Amino acid sequence: MSTKRDYYEILGVPKNASLDEIKKSYRQAAMKHHPDRNPGDKEAEAKFKEAAEAYEVLADSEKRARFDQFGHAGLESAGFGPRGFSSPDDIFEAFGDIFGDFFGFGRRGGGGGRRGASLRAEVEIEFVEAARGCDRTIVLKRHEICKTCSGSGAKAGTQPSQCPLCGGHGQVLQGGGFFTIRTTCPKCGGSGKVVKDPCKPCGGEGVTREKAEVKVAIPAGIDTNTRIRVPGEGEPSMAGGGRGDMFVDVTVKPHSIFEREGTTLFCEVPISFSQAALGAEIEVATLDEKVSLKVPRATHSGQLFRIRGHGLPDVEGGRQGDLVVRVVIEVPKSLTKQQEDLLREFAKTEKVEVKPRKKSLLDKIKDMFEP
Ligand SMILES: [Zn+2]
Ligand SMILES: [Zn+2]
Repeated sequence: MSTKRDYYEILGVPKNASLDEIKKSYRQAAMKHHPDRNPGDKEAEAKFKEAAEAYEVLADSEKRARFDQFGHAGLESAGFGPRGFSSPDDIFEAFGDIFGDFFGFGRRGGGGGRRGASLRAEVEIEFVEAARGCDRTIVLKRHEICKTCSGSGAKAGTQPSQCPLCGGHGQVLQGGGFFTIRTTCPKCGGSGKVVKDPCKPCGGEGVTREKAEVKVAIPAGIDTNTRIRVPGEGEPSMAGGGRGDMFVDVTVKPHSIFEREGTTLFCEVPISFSQAALGAEIEVATLDEKVSLKVPRATHSGQLFRIRGHGLPDVEGGRQGDLVVRVVIEVPKSLTKQQEDLLREFAKTEKVEVKPRKKSLLDKIKDMFEP
């Protein structure tokens, strides 16, 4: 009544397969369906887990005997039900040792192969997008492990063979006399393997160049010249270490009205002489709405006012910044007849200082020399 596939069938081995055959077959299946080589491919992931489960049973003589006699049900009743691997790392944790010598595949982190190279991209966003956060899709060409040969570079049905120059060690001894120097094998480039019949789609390289789209979430509050790391979106690793990272340099375009310093937003708002002298309530546009600002009586030009919480969000999740408004008194370019008359009336009432407020520097110097 079980719908599960036969473990021998999964690994493609006969019922009387030796432990070595089972290991070898599992290794091949794991390489082929490894999530690092099939990013986002759910089917490959399922096959990867299925193979691990099959291997777990068939590599254990007690479990294998039970499965041979009673099938899946026999395992369940004996408490040998599948443990259900949740992630590839679980699988490497369990069976890491059998991957060790194969393409450098191994446990990730510690002894695993080197990760792929990182990639760099640049995006330019609007000031308002930086304030609110946005998504960008970066379209680029990057390498993928060749799907036809799974990275081996060898034509379908063939395997890379041991490098004849270094005997599979990846290094050769050079020189003679007093010195011998160990260098990377020039024939195989250090892999210890050579491909006689190259895979067509990748030309024996093991990788192909493919178009990729990488979604980048740009956090609200980001400042210009910030680098974002997108893990696992760089180049693939030929050594089984997983993809490198992508680094995205973000440039924020300047705004026509606003400037920023950290999370503080700055803008300049013109007010009239009468508003400055008498006080007024003015409207100030922020990044998302209009707010009113009380300008008190006798405000001078250039005075700063802080509007709390209308600055930029803190990219690290701290407090939202403030908007600092600099008011500038604007003198009207033209006056109506009535305005001019009123201003003249006003001027008569002003206590105009006739004398200069203080002597100019030049006057002071003159004083020193004229007795
Ligand atoms: Zn290929
Ligand atoms: Zn070699």
